[in-house]
This record gives sequence, structure tokens and C-alpha cells, in this order.
Amino acid sequence: MSKHIQGIAASSGIAIAKAYRLETPHFVVEKKTVTDVETEIARFDAAVAKAKAELEQIKDHAFQQLGEDKAAIFSAHLLVLSDPELLNPVKDKIAAEQVNAEYALDEVASMFVAMFEAMDNEYMKERAADIRDVTKRVLAHLLGITISNPSLISEEVVIIAEDLTPSDTAQLNRQYVKGFTTDIGGRTSHSAIMARSMEIPAVVGTKAVTAEIENGDLVIIDGLDGRVVVDPSEEELAHYEEKRARFEAQKAEWAKLVHEPTITSDGHHVELAANIGTPDDVKGVLANGAEGIGLYRTEFLYMGRSELPTEEEQFEAYKTVLERMEGKPVVVRTLDIGGDKELPYLELPKEMNPFLGFRAIRLCLEMQDMFRTQLRALLRASVYGNLKIMFPMIATLDEFRQAKAILLEEKEKLVQEGVSVAENIEVGMMVEIPAAAVLADQFAKEVDFFSIGTNDLIQYTMAADRMNERVSYLYQPYNPAILRLIANVIEAAHKEGKWAGMCGEMAGEELAIPILLGLGLDEFSMSATSILRARSQLKKLSKEEAASLKETILSMNTAEEVVAFVKQTFHIE
Ligand code: PEP
Ligand code: MG
Repeated sequence: MSKHIQGIAASSGIAIAKAYRLETPHFVVEKKTVTDVETEIARFDAAVAKAKAELEQIKDHAFQQLGEDKAAIFSAHLLVLSDPELLNPVKDKIAAEQVNAEYALDEVASMFVAMFEAMDNEYMKERAADIRDVTKRVLAHLLGITISNPSLISEEVVIIAEDLTPSDTAQLNRQYVKGFTTDIGGRTSHSAIMARSMEIPAVVGTKAVTAEIENGDLVIIDGLDGRVVVDPSEEELAHYEEKRARFEAQKAEWAKLVHEPTITSDGHHVELAANIGTPDDVKGVLANGAEGIGLYRTEFLYMGRSELPTEEEQFEAYKTVLERMEGKPVVVRTLDIGGDKELPYLELPKEMNPFLGFRAIRLCLEMQDMFRTQLRALLRASVYGNLKIMFPMIATLDEFRQAKAILLEEKEKLVQEGVSVAENIEVGMMVEIPAAAVLADQFAKEVDFFSIGTNDLIQYTMAADRMNERVSYLYQPYNPAILRLIANVIEAAHKEGKWAGMCGEMAGEELAIPILLGLGLDEFSMSATSILRARSQLKKLSKEEAASLKETILSMNTAEEVVAFVKQTFHIE
């Protein structure tokens, strides 16, 4: 009998191969008394040095196989290994308590891991994984244990692991590793992000695969539906082989659309753009044929470091993106920090409701030095391509006016200094707060464009925290309340001759695309890997036909009704 295990679909595709269990070595750390404290500290230093050398090697490997931003994870690990805040307490403990290095390290690291894990923030929780990963490496050297080396795999396998550390993932050889599945992790864990960029199917967060699967078992990983099948029957195998062939054929079909414009079956053009976080992401944007960048989340420039990025650093990043996009539109969002995205070095007080708190434009209007630095960097970069700037989390007209006034002040200063700045930079805003969506007609008179941020708009409209699983049933993109707000924003923009885009996750969803097309959305911005699928879908849709359903959909009562209607009308499974 086959076994089915459900998890979270982390990277699409189907993999079928023998299981290879990546064992997590179990370290037994005993507390021992040492008399020669100095030798013990030297032993600790030597283990750290060995771990660093190893990490340098893995980093180079990741750089070649996966690119600069994935290799950056290992730079982060190397930073952890050079951080006196971690290393000194270990040495102090060895000296003060006369204990062995293994014990001191294990204790100190566990304290940091517990601290990061307790934080109400996914990004910081991932830092706990980094510390665990680095600690394991040093402990292995101290204990003389060899940790598994997945780069030695030489036959086709799927990897079964409790969790895949970033260093494990970076060592995976794409030629042999066809997919992986883990007990823990979510869609935004490092291993999931890595899997997507390597384009290997993955299912994470199964809670059960290491308990249920033995080395050599035949395993199917269905990264489309988040399912793992162990010891499949003949029929199941045939079913999944067919599903895999269909997916591969579809991918090959989509790939043909890379250089095509996105034109609906009745001849209307819509713009398909990509969301990015770093200049490195532009490669994927171009490879997937995006017509522009609809959201550059600049927060990442500020994260994973200990101080604010300088104007020069930012200028280089923005210039690189604009140049690589060769004149295609690039919408850069100014700093959206706060909420789930913390910057520890700003030392902001902890908030009761971070999503409703001092974040994004609210923070930028108050911390104006930081905001002005970013705007100057953007304005200076503007001559290298087609830059558009938008402000996040705008709730009132006054906020938009203030932000725009600061932008114009900085522009004026640069012009006075003799620095060239592009003339025609469009200035827009994210619509992610219901107040702005309701008042879109007023905003539309003053902005050049809107970009609807459904990730937040849904949580604020439904009053349901997007990170809280217990209220996730309320996170309803297809609730008519949300759809009416979206319709209102698009209509308001068009009345004033402005354009409206969407950069929330909803823009890339197969079910949402016909609805949004019918509502008249001009630009759809999504993760790069969704673009070709969306293009293929849009080419088959008629905008007029989709528009004719607008009133019917907007007058429905529930999200379920909308979903059922759209599935049936557009033959979506
Ligand atoms: C959004 O809120 O929809 C959005 C795109 O912004 P973020 O996900 O970065 O909050
Ligand atoms: Mg948002």
C-alpha cells in the first residue's frame, strides 16, 4: 500500500526517484570540566576556523551554481562565525565555568536560537536556523564528526530530511537531486526559496517524511499540490508520470512565449511585470520575459546588516537594476520596513500590533534623513533607465503629498548641485489600506499610478492578520468586498487617465487573472516564475468577455460563490 503525506507546496514540478535520507547527525554534547582553559579556547578557535574555511568553499560553490544572492546566505553564516556577540560569550563561559568548548557553544547558541525563535517575525525566525546551522558545523569539528555531504550524491534521488539547512541546499547537484521534502519549513524558508530558484520540486512542512520514508523507497514529490507519495502503486506511478509529462510540456509551451507581448485574444495589451527583492533577481525577470518590474522591494537592501545602507550603495543597486532592464519600466517602492519586516539596528520599540504600527511611509516621514538618502539615490539613478517611484502604506492624501514634496525637494537640490535627474519620473502609491482604496477618486487626481498591494489590503479589509493561521479562513482574495475595492481603485485611476497595477500575490493567481482583466487592471506584477504561465492564460482570454462578467461577480455574496463561478466560466480546475 502506498502512503500519502501532505505538506506545503514549496517549488512546483513532479519528481519521482529513490529516497536518499539526509541524516541530521545527532550530537551528544556532554558537560566536562577542563583545567587548561587556554587550550580549550584554542580548540574552539581552531574549530571555528575550520568551519569558516568550509563555508568559504560552500559559498563559492553556491555562487557558481545559484548566483550571488543565494551565496549571500553563506556570507551571513560567515558573519555569524565572526560575530563577537556569539563567540565571546562562549569563550567567557569556558573560562568562567571551566567547561569544555562543545558544552559552552551549545549552551550559548541555544540561548540565541530560543531568543530569535520567540520573535514574532518570520525573518528573525529564519536567523535562528542560520545560528543552528553554523553551530552544528563548529560542533562537528569539535566532536570529530563528519557531517553529511550531499554534494557526493551520484545517482538520481529525492532527498528526505528533517530540514534542509541552506548549506545542504547549496550543495545539491541538480543533475542527481530531482526534488526534496522535509518535515519542517514553510514557503518562505530558505530551503523553499532555494528550491524555487534551482527549479527543483519541493514539498516542505510535512511533519512526517523522515518517520515514514526509508532509504531507497520509491518516492513521488508533487510540488504542485504539496503531496508526497511513498511506494506508489502502478496506477499512481502512471498517473504522476503523466502529470509530470503534462507539466513539462506546459513549461515548454510557456517558454515559447518569452519574447512575446501579452495580448489578449481580442487584441488588448496588458503589462506583465515581476516583483524583485535584489538586483540579482533581474536575471530571472529577463529569463521569464517580464515586460518590466512592477515592485522592487527595497527593504532587502536594509536587511541582514548592522547599519543603514549609504546613498552610494543604494545608488549602485538602483542603477544596476535600471540598466539591466534596458529602458523597461521599473517601479521602485521606497522603504517598507516595520510590520513583519524589522530592522534591529533602528532599535524601534516593540509594538502590540506591528502591522498597524509605525511602519513604511509613517516611519519614513518621521525619519526623514533615512528617507531623503533613499530618494537621492533613486533620483540620481533615474537617468539610467525608466524609473517610477511609489510610496508604501499610504493612508491619507496628506501623507502622499508630504512624501511627494520631499521627493521634489531632493530633486530640486540635486538639480541645483548640477546632478542630472530624469524629467519624467512617475510618482505613484501602493493601495493597501482600505481608506485609500475607498478614496481612490481623490488620490487619482494627484498620483501618476496606483499599485494595489493585496497582501496587505486583504488583511486590513478583513481585519485578519496575514501571519495568523487561526484567522486564515478570513484571508479571502475573492471576497466581493475586496473585489469591489479593487474595482473602485481601477475605475478611479482610469477616470483620471492614470494606470492601475497590482503587485500583491493575487496578481499572479490563475483564478484572479480573468477577474482582474475584466476589472480593467493595466499591469500585473508577480514572481518571475509565474509570468509565462500568466501570459499563456491571458493570451487565451478575451478582455471584453471578462469585462462583461464584472457586474455579476461584484454583486455576488461570498468568496465561495465567486470562486465557483470563475472556475466554471473559465474552465479552471
Ligand atoms: C502587498 O501588501 O500586497 C505588497 C505587495 O507588499 P508586501 O507584501 O511587501 O507587504
Ligand atoms: Mg504591503
